[in-house]
Amino acid sequence: MKIILDSEAGTCGGVRRAIELVEEELKSGDREIYVLGDIIHNEREVERLNQAGLKTIQIEDLDNFEPASNERKVSIIIRAHGEPPSTIEKLNKLGVKIVDGTCPVVHRSQRLAAEYNHDNYQIAIVGKHAHPEMIGIIGHTESIANVIQFDEDVDKLTPGKQTLVMAQTTISTRKFKEMIKKIKARVGDVIIRDTICKSVVQRDKRLSIFAKKVDVLLVVGGHKSSNTKELYRTCLTINPHTYHVVTPSEIDYNWLKDVEIVGVTGSASTPRWLLNEFVEALKKQLN
Ligand code: SF4
Repeated sequence: MKIILDSEAGTCGGVRRAIELVEEELKSGDREIYVLGDIIHNEREVERLNQAGLKTIQIEDLDNFEPASNERKVSIIIRAHGEPPSTIEKLNKLGVKIVDGTCPVVHRSQRLAAEYNHDNYQIAIVGKHAHPEMIGIIGHTESIANVIQFDEDVDKLTPGKQTLVMAQTTISTRKFKEMIKKIKARVGDVIIRDTICKSVVQRDKRLSIFAKKVDVLLVVGGHKSSNTKELYRTCLTINPHTYHVVTPSEIDYNWLKDVEIVGVTGSASTPRWLLNEFVEALKKQLN
């Protein structure tokens, strides 16, 4: 049996940048380093960084967070998903050093939504309710942008109002197009800005080729990762023998019966080191 690792799979530029910022802060040695929410939706990478000294806190924890002082130096990292302005205000009040790991692509979406909100547009963002990136972008619109995940969400839009339609960076082009049709049917003419991350689009294209040339495809990534789940669903439509796993121990060896080529890939939140480790462990298990 041949095992092929998708040559370009690994963490996307935005998440890589946020992790590099964390590693840079960790080098300082004299500070407490926190990140707001998981730095990456990958349990193993989070564990690695926690062991190096990173602590993960949630937004609710800020209410009881002890402010920074001369004796207590604190850095708080904003992850690639970004945060609403209300979070930045809280952090400023605490006197901590803010390390902004917001992905530049997400920053662009935040600015776009803020500009159109300022110009009094109705804003429809196709994506997922409660996704951290979405919460951040909505915060830049005084919390009035509409999340469009389900058909019922479209019904809440005001017909005839000037409207901007944009996307959460990680949703599929298929979902975006499907929702644009429904939004137009309700609202009429709209301005469309495709804010889907280009690295996600490129990856989907490339992966559709990779998924076709293997007998079984293993998509490696955290159970909480929206990127990984989306990627798994996309691959499944191309190769019905696609499985989402975190470690080789989750593989059911019936999947690999009479199989010649096993492909291994990962989402934007699966680090390369973890994919290499996965492939090595898989090879050992199969021998
Ligand atoms: S998937 Fe794209 S938008 Fe999201 S963090 Fe990565 S590079 Fe940025």
